[in-house]
Amino acid sequence: MFAMMEAARLEALHLTQDPVTGLKAIIAIHNTRLGPALGGCRYLVYPDEQSAIRDAMRLAQGMSYKAALAGLAQGGGKAVIIRPAHVDNRGALFEAFGRFIETLNGRYITAVDSGTSSADMDCIAQHTQHVTSTTSEGDPSPHTAMGVFAGIRATALARLGSDDLEGLRVAIQGLGHVGYALAEQLHAAGVELLVSDLDAGRVRLAVEQLGAQPVPSAALLGSRCDILAPCGLGGILNAESVGQLRCSAVAGAANNQLASTEVADTLQRRGILYAPDYVINAGGLIYVALRHKGASQVAITAHMAKISQRLAEIYAQAEADHRSPARIADALAEAVLYD
Ligand code: NAD
Repeated sequence: MFAMMEAARLEALHLTQDPVTGLKAIIAIHNTRLGPALGGCRYLVYPDEQSAIRDAMRLAQGMSYKAALAGLAQGGGKAVIIRPAHVDNRGALFEAFGRFIETLNGRYITAVDSGTSSADMDCIAQHTQHVTSTTSEGDPSPHTAMGVFAGIRATALARLGSDDLEGLRVAIQGLGHVGYALAEQLHAAGVELLVSDLDAGRVRLAVEQLGAQPVPSAALLGSRCDILAPCGLGGILNAESVGQLRCSAVAGAANNQLASTEVADTLQRRGILYAPDYVINAGGLIYVALRHKGASQVAITAHMAKISQRLAEIYAQAEADHRSPARIADALAEAVLYD
């Protein structure tokens, strides 16, 4: 365990269990150099406890990098609650988790993530103030989508020479909270949409409301398009799938899109511009971090503009150094976190 923590440069790992509510939770705090660790809370079924701990550690590291490049005074952390086969009282379980967060005296601030909702955050908020994205603060997903939209424009400018998206063809994998909101914005900008989702109802909605062209999930990555926007699960760009791509750029919301950084080098060799995921999808984090500090909507919107500025800087440096934007982003984040 300590070797894993050292490899990930993780500051702290906190575990708790509560037999009364069924809570089994992990809080991984990766780096607090810039401020308290902020990151979502997952509530998912895991094959075993080790996988849950690994997930929390990996995701916490990603949050440090994301906050560092988003220019936020926050560190990176993540919580995982192992979802029990059966729970009598979900509210009580999240309240117990709130009490656990409170014991950390503000070193970790939580937020919604896969499997959790604003209603769960309200339960946590009964016992700690170190919680964001409650029902009164709102869902960060529309803000993530806004940031990705701005990032797609910056990507189009860098790769295709114009940030006018009208007439471009964008393939979106995953029409969930972020993907559907992104599809709406792209449609309004005159983009031709190709879409896939495992949920046929989401696809039907996009076809009916946005004139999108449905593509089977297995075929979407190989669709001919200007920009591929992965907005489903992570790990979709691997040694095998990257050979199928027929796009000029990849720019989407999904976390951990690259199975490994070597995949980014392959994209680079193929002339496919890659928008580092934790840079382009930082809109939700910016929203929850600033909203939690009481910032105005004007200040939040102004800060969101940093996403496309940061991407433009990364693309310029990547071009000058003949390196992948993913490697440039990692080096920039590590300079902020460790130098
Ligand atoms: P979500 O669960 O609401 O939506 C994901 C959608 O992707 C679902 O509709 C699912 O059916 C679909 N999907 C999954 N695998 C697919 C596949 N192989 N092919 C087609 N569709 C597939 O999640 P979300 O909140 O929209 O987040 C989407 C991604 O963005 C995730 O990777 C998440 O970690 C990341 N992200 C989200 C936020 C946010 O604010 N919600 C912020 C940063 C990053």
